[in-house]
Amino acid sequence: MTDIYLDNSATTRPYREVLELMGMVQAEIYGNPSSMHEKGLAAEKLIREARRQISAMIGGRDQEIVFTSGGTEANNLAVKGAAFRYRRKDAHLITSAIEHPSVLNCFRFLEQEGFKVSYLPVSDKGIVDPDFVKSLIKKDTILISIMHANNETGSIQPLEEIGRCIKKINPEILFHIDAVQSFTRLPLKLKEWQADLVSLSAHKIHGVKGAGCLWIKQGVKLQPLLDGGGQEKGLRAGTENVAAIAGFGLAAKLSGENQNKKMAVVGTFKKSFYRTIHNSGINCILNGPLLEESAPHIINLSFPGLKSEVLLHSLEEQGIYVSAGSACHSRHPEPSHVLSAMGLSGKTLEGALRFSFSVLNNEKEVAAAAEATINTVRHLTALIR
Ligand code: PLP
Repeated sequence: MTDIYLDNSATTRPYREVLELMGMVQAEIYGNPSSMHEKGLAAEKLIREARRQISAMIGGRDQEIVFTSGGTEANNLAVKGAAFRYRRKDAHLITSAIEHPSVLNCFRFLEQEGFKVSYLPVSDKGIVDPDFVKSLIKKDTILISIMHANNETGSIQPLEEIGRCIKKINPEILFHIDAVQSFTRLPLKLKEWQADLVSLSAHKIHGVKGAGCLWIKQGVKLQPLLDGGGQEKGLRAGTENVAAIAGFGLAAKLSGENQNKKMAVVGTFKKSFYRTIHNSGINCILNGPLLEESAPHIINLSFPGLKSEVLLHSLEEQGIYVSAGSACHSRHPEPSHVLSAMGLSGKTLEGALRFSFSVLNNEKEVAAAAEATINTVRHLTALIR
């Protein structure tokens, strides 16, 4: 039995080229990038190259990239860094109810610190209404954080419209976007979104865990979260994870090659998977937007009457790896805050599974996983009757 890995929203298998580069860097280019000698310069050159590769992919400037330990740290730096930098009496912040915990929990922390926070509701498809954003903006609003593609359902937020509303009311409000799931899968339109801060992570794009970055628009000021040696222009102290950062740059470059074609292929995996399941006649509900309107790699399905954990482990026994809700916090038995915010409850909420695909999957795997899911759902349903 060969494994079929369909949990690519949780993390992706690193590209072989990335691992080869990283192995070479760890063994040979081990200098500290802050050192002034040749070995330091060699390491610094790799970081510079990664900065160039990532900024080229997103259409930003090299000097606007600040490397972090991942998406969580990038989100913390954006949200807390902006809030503390522009803190004042009655400072007000806005985010959505379906953000990743690395954003939501920053806002909960900031509430305890005295900031006023508004949480935006979403539609039954998991979409934020730009008019609602507009209605919440006050004269004291300093930061708005809304994700691009949701990690549980793949719903895509209308960021261009939201950005336009925000900046029309007050161009000084900072607009942060968590693009961890969409990077390399959807075009990032920094200018059209009128974004100030954008978070990215390496291990979601076939790099490794432990590297990510925050794109900070030139001129935007943040309060650093760490005190230390002044690396990353003083915004992220600590010796850089050179190998992981170099791997991140290469992963971005490789993902960018024929990106549209690759994502069209990933999109067909999602569609054929859903079509097979839907046509089988088993009881199944699509959570989130229509397939063409969501991120190409994610599909969230409910199998009412079954418990997602039971289904997940039954598939695992057959070598198929999927997720119940978001893997980053799915060990917690609480129901998904994303699906709850979309109005799901009871059996639909309890029976939700996320399948997420990548370019490293193939059609055969997708067909086998769909068949296995159908058979498992039929088998488990028969058991509980
Ligand atoms: N934001 C989103 C939307 C995510 O899906 C994740 C991880 O699942 C993160 C942030 C956190 O990124 P990292 O795992 O690199 O800390």
